[in-house]
Amino acid sequence: AKERGKAGFCFYEPQMIARASERLALSTDLREGLGRDELRVCYQPKVDLRSRRLVGLEALARWAHPTRGHLPPSMFIPLAEDCGLIARLGERVVREVAGQIARWRAEGLPLVPVAINLSMQEIQGANFVPSLLRTLAETGLDRHAIEFEITETAAMTDVHTTLRHLRELEALGFRIAIDDFGTGFSSLSHLRQLPARTIKIDQSFVHGADVSHHDREITEAIIALARKLRLHTVAEGVESEQQASWLVQAGCDIGQGYLFGRPLPPGETATLLAAGFAG
Ligand code: C2E
Ligand code: CA
Ligand code: CA
Ligand code: CA
Repeated sequence: AKERGKAGFCFYEPQMIARASERLALSTDLREGLGRDELRVCYQPKVDLRSRRLVGLEALARWAHPTRGHLPPSMFIPLAEDCGLIARLGERVVREVAGQIARWRAEGLPLVPVAINLSMQEIQGANFVPSLLRTLAETGLDRHAIEFEITETAAMTDVHTTLRHLRELEALGFRIAIDDFGTGFSSLSHLRQLPARTIKIDQSFVHGADVSHHDREITEAIIALARKLRLHTVAEGVESEQQASWLVQAGCDIGQGYLFGRPLPPGETATLLAAGFAG
């Protein structure tokens, strides 16, 4: 049975206790690492599927761990959520991205909106909106410079606060996208409630459509639904020209995936911004 431990960890089964001690060690590292600037951000291009013009970037966090090397978000985002570090981590990401955009702007590069991932748990935090506004004010960025991608997780305990904070963000002029659309159990009901302008179709649909007619029909239906609701659609995980072309036929606007570019460190992202195209 699932039980919440004193340290805030979930123990599902006895044999996971070994892993739990590893998580405890990693959470200590994370707490220290956040103070030591070990967080890095990579940027992945989003393109207009027809013109291949660069229309946005997505900021993806990496952890430069002192002994384990670069760790992907799956290794530390859920951990940060479990051990109460997600608010600090999120603030660091916003600070890093805002600072980077300001540097690109100072270099005279043409800018596109940069999307930051937020987990529902992060948005629930009492200081979430004021802390965000403070960071942006410090870097002098306007609100169109940054967008938010919201991932639904099982950890959303306070729906009311989450929705209130999201509506505040929207009222302040920030754009919001629903991430991983089509996964999770309540995406459709969220769609009615969330102040989103964009849905990001989960990459499992894009990949599944290669082999399953059924997945392709679901994806086409999602795109059709989004168009009816006047929402923009971004397809994630586009890896082949074949996928890109049927997505265009289905009416999808924007694509993201290895076909157009992998997540890149800031220096290489600057080259991409200067070119204005990807893929
Ligand atoms: P996501 O937001 O769905 O991001 C897309 C993930 O798919 C990224 O993995 C990206 O590297 C990967 N990807 C992009 N194109 C392709 C492709 O063509 N093929 C395949 N196979 N994969 C592709 P990544 O960077 O490991 O991030 C994983 C997840 O971690 C993200 O999923 C997001 O939910 C979360 N995440 C990342 N950065 C942050 C952050 O700063 N804060 C929060 N709260 N979550 C974050
Ligand atoms: Ca995302
Ligand atoms: Ca996603
Ligand atoms: Ca995902």
